[in-house]
Amino acid sequence: MEKNSSNMIPLAENSPNKQQTVCIFGTGDFGRSLGYKMLQCGHPIVFGSRNAQTSSLIPKGTELLSHREAAQKADIIIVAIQRQHYNFLTELSEVLRGKVLVDVSNNLKINEYPESNAEYLAQLVPGAKIVKAFNTVSAWALQSGTLDASRQVFVCGDDSKAKQMVMEIVRTLGLTPLDQGSLLAAKEIENYPLQLFPMWKFPICLAVGLSTFFFFYSLIRDVIYPYVYDNKDFSFFVVISIPNRVCPIVALILLALVYLPGIIAAILQLHRGTKYSRFPDWLDKWMLCRKQLGLVALAFAFLHVLYTLVIPIRYYVRWKLNGFIISQVKNNITFPFNNTNGWISDSYLALGILGFFLFILLGITSLPSVSNNVNWREFRFVQSKLGYLTLVLCTAHTLVYGGKRFLIPSMYRWYLPEAYMLSLIVPCIVLLIKFVLIFPCIDRPLTQIRQGWERDSKGSKQPYCNDSKSTV
Ligand code: NAP
Repeated sequence: MEKNSSNMIPLAENSPNKQQTVCIFGTGDFGRSLGYKMLQCGHPIVFGSRNAQTSSLIPKGTELLSHREAAQKADIIIVAIQRQHYNFLTELSEVLRGKVLVDVSNNLKINEYPESNAEYLAQLVPGAKIVKAFNTVSAWALQSGTLDASRQVFVCGDDSKAKQMVMEIVRTLGLTPLDQGSLLAAKEIENYPLQLFPMWKFPICLAVGLSTFFFFYSLIRDVIYPYVYDNKDFSFFVVISIPNRVCPIVALILLALVYLPGIIAAILQLHRGTKYSRFPDWLDKWMLCRKQLGLVALAFAFLHVLYTLVIPIRYYVRWKLNGFIISQVKNNITFPFNNTNGWISDSYLALGILGFFLFILLGITSLPSVSNNVNWREFRFVQSKLGYLTLVLCTAHTLVYGGKRFLIPSMYRWYLPEAYMLSLIVPCIVLLIKFVLIFPCIDRPLTQIRQGWERDSKGSKQPYCNDSKSTV
């Protein structure tokens, strides 16, 4: 097991850009892919393996030795082995003393072990300098060269020289090292690849919950009610009519929920008379996922637009329209043009078009490539001022759609108001409170609080603790 089995001439040794020799423990998928990539970038590579005889799998131009022999040939050793097999490293403690050990491992579950894998490695080999890196880069990406999604390599470690050495290697591979600080950060770095859309969970669950509620609500009102009372079968409404009710409702409520946490935060700051006090955790989390809430809302608004565009080609709509025209012809009646209805219909459509246009603008400015190119004031202008304008336009679009129907008793089937009426509750509350908050007598103290003024500090404008989390 401890025998040298390869006499190959390392490619990198002949390379004009000869780099530092790197040792890789483990000839599995990741070890081989990383080794191949490093070899391409000029690093002589020596593999340390349990089986130093079988060299057919390792990239040509690399050496295959026993762990002990391989470790002696390099100052940097990449441990491309699962954590549960680290135990054998204790026997190599002497050889590994003073060397840089790079832990690339991931776990199967978040917080699977009490300590991070890198900290565990540091306990097993106390004499080595442990650096965590490469765990967010996949073997597949290294092999296929499609590193766009994983160009960032998070690096952490307690020895800054060791960290710099690893970061230099990362750069030679054409990747971007991101220094995350000491080895304490390893746990967080190990959790990165295991997280499943953490910021999207709440917005998506909320959207699914609201969609389900309003779908069944509309089903009861628009399909079951006419069936029970008039024996009419409108079950086909579930395909287009009901989704086209649900989508704008969910979009409007989610858009209002983007602005509600800011309003709650403002009320809390006014009540506490300071911004240097933590918001409740739920409010912090809510504020952090506002962008995702807005994007999910935009997706629903987009679906509403698509469903609306197909209305004229629907069989039911054409049948109803033809029947209406034929009945006018048969009865020799012409309904006179109603100017009020013309205004209502056009205003409703215009408000919807403008609201959707601004909605798209908000979505575009939230893209990192765009938001990185605008300054803080421009970003705030679009996301706050234009955002509120979008909410106003979309709420007005729904209000005008309702028109006189709010007051017609037959619209309340089984005492249930139409679903769009319910959708107006949150946006109207948000807009009403926002309207109150911009009154100068409230806006002035709020602005002062946000600039650091505190009601209870005796004339001092100095913050007593700096809690960035309370920034709205
Ligand atoms: P793998 O294909 O299963 O390879 C693991 C290697 O570890 C084996 O080939 C073997 O190499 C060595 N090994 C297995 N059992 C051992 C034992 N009892 N004692 C000593 N060595 C042993 O796994 P992998 O996909 O390459 O992953 C290796 C590490 O990289 C893991 O910690 C993983 O979390 C991490 N990682 C993987 C990826 C990826 O995309 N695959 C991405 C990021 C991080 P020898 O036969 O040569 O001894």
